[in-house]
Amino acid sequence: MTFISKKKNCDVEGCPNEYKKTVSREKAGSTIKEANLSLSIKDKVTRVHLCTDHYRKIKKKLKKDRKIESLRWSG
Ligand SMILES: [Zn+2]
Repeated sequence: MTFISKKKNCDVEGCPNEYKKTVSREKAGSTIKEANLSLSIKDKVTRVHLCTDHYRKIKKKLKKDRKIESLRWSG
């Protein structure tokens, strides 16, 4: 049987907090880079686990992106 890690930590490198939110890497990846953070997950992983702190940081930027997106769509 494969060993399954019981750690439920935030995927941001060096962050010891327990994760609270899961976001798709596709959405979060660039935002995380913009925030000068790096992820401690493997390339194949498509989901990012974030603690509350980091999720908030990302969320702010995601909202911005969404606004831009919706403007584009409505136009
Ligand atoms: Zn974190």
